[in-house]
Amino acid sequence: MSSSDPATRPEPDAGRPYDAVVVGAGFGGLRMLHELRGLGLRTLVVDEAEDVGGTWHWNRYPGCRTDSESWYYCYSFSPELEKEWQWSERFPAQAEVADYLRFVADRLDMRRDIRFGTRVDAAEFDDDANVWRLRTDAGDEITATYYVAAQGILSAPYLPDFPGIDTFDGEVLFTPRWPHDRDLDFAGKRVAIVGTGATGVQLVPVVSRTADHTTVFQRTATYVVPSRNHVLEDVQRIELDRDRDAMWKRTELHPMALPYPPSAGRLGVDLSDEERRRALDAGWERGTFRFMFEMFDDMMTDPEINKVVADFVRDKIRSIVTDPETAELLCPDDHGVGSKRPPLGQHYYEAYNRDNVDLVSVKKTPIQEITPRGIRVGDQEYEVDVIIFATGFDAVTGGFTRVDVRGRSGASLAQRWADGPETVLAMAVDDFPNFFMVLGPQGPYAILTVVIEHTAQWIGQAIAAAREAGTDRIEARPDAVSDWNQEVLDAVAPTMAVRGSESWLFGANIPGKARVVQQYFGGFHTWLEKIREESAAGFPHFTLGAKTGAASDPARRAS
Ligand code: NAP
Repeated sequence: MSSSDPATRPEPDAGRPYDAVVVGAGFGGLRMLHELRGLGLRTLVVDEAEDVGGTWHWNRYPGCRTDSESWYYCYSFSPELEKEWQWSERFPAQAEVADYLRFVADRLDMRRDIRFGTRVDAAEFDDDANVWRLRTDAGDEITATYYVAAQGILSAPYLPDFPGIDTFDGEVLFTPRWPHDRDLDFAGKRVAIVGTGATGVQLVPVVSRTADHTTVFQRTATYVVPSRNHVLEDVQRIELDRDRDAMWKRTELHPMALPYPPSAGRLGVDLSDEERRRALDAGWERGTFRFMFEMFDDMMTDPEINKVVADFVRDKIRSIVTDPETAELLCPDDHGVGSKRPPLGQHYYEAYNRDNVDLVSVKKTPIQEITPRGIRVGDQEYEVDVIIFATGFDAVTGGFTRVDVRGRSGASLAQRWADGPETVLAMAVDDFPNFFMVLGPQGPYAILTVVIEHTAQWIGQAIAAAREAGTDRIEARPDAVSDWNQEVLDAVAPTMAVRGSESWLFGANIPGKARVVQQYFGGFHTWLEKIREESAAGFPHFTLGAKTGAASDPARRAS
């Protein structure tokens, strides 16, 4: 049965509130549905797309694949699912991840609780009725006691306002809204790629393989580490299966939720130049994020050590890219390693050795306009047939604030976060009772599938705690929000990341957006400990069962 078959689509809420509504049917939303079903809650999931997948539904540009390894880029709540699903590669391509999420949805018969093709535009908390009222683009209202926003951190695409974009005679493509209805063939075409973040880095080698000519427009060069992707052999799968339980346990101890040793176990400052070089060579051969995060424990705190790593990558770029001018343009010179979210590449730098690939730096001279024939930079016009924009997202907060969410005071989440997001442990906000977020702002900078798993469990526990206390109302306390905000600020202070970062991690890629740390850099393991303490103690930083204004009424607190 197809996802858009009316028989699979839940009827609009005919007046009776759902126990819970979840917005988003990606990794987070599906996991949340499973959790809420487990609590016996009548739950509806709503998604704008026509199928499950979330980010893996929309981002189907050529070369799109995970840069987390497949064996932990998946759910851990069901040993059966883990056994049934076999990944084909270390870093699976978009289609395989989308298939995986379809497999989970079908295997757990989730589609009957999902309404596809419906965008939620607004949500308002009705204090008297203790329900959330969600307005959809179809003009109807969905009501539910609990509202879980599961849009994720990268769901609001960002396309800069380039003058003349509508005048272009060729085809304009935007990676997070890649066409679903046709295969694109770049053979014989001159293609422009704008943007060299993780998306652009995946596009360049693949598009340039078939395009007649590819011109890459780069504003900021990044440190791209080789992914060393490979197919998974049966023998590796057997090993991975055997290790599965221990692997998930290891993720709980790691600052980034990786199933690897939590620390490099060495300080760059203690090593000789030769020892550092040996470590860097070995790390480069192994590739993956481990190159960055397991190199030296002082890489993010000691600028000298960070520079050692940065110089090493710059040398690698110069040794791979044969044209010295192009190599220099590809060498990052304005930020340290790790202060932007690092991309993983598969033959990225090598692609610039092709005769049909050019790199244009738009750092000093920005893109001035899009013309009918191409892209103008300064007084030079680059004529192309296709422009691909890989210009990123209004990350972390954008997916949540795109919905006009209003709490019990009537103030919106967007207003509330105008100077930067504030949450308790990335999952709740005061003034927004019964509202939870999966991958909300101020959450750990870590492997998202693992964060989702623990977030869903915790939200389930919070709702269960309210119910056990004989109520269907739970709200974060304002002091808890300020406390977590302070912890988030304190955690980022000692790291390199805080220094001059122009990254989406700090909201810096969106004109006019508050420049403030959007994620928690104190480590996934620390966050996990804190959320576990909170639930084990009966949610002391929340008010259970109180109506408006009761957050300051201690007699009505559960603890
Ligand atoms: P991004 O990292 O924000 O990169 C956007 C690119 O567009 C940057 O190179 C940016 O330059 C450029 N850009 C933006 N405005 C521009 C302008 N006006 N003129 C010229 N260039 C402009 O976005 P992304 O590449 O889509 O990646 C976002 C995040 O998505 C990643 O960090 C990652 O977390 C996730 N992602 C993951 C995967 C994966 O798992 N494999 C793949 C893709 C993305 P500046 O750097 O100068 O701003």
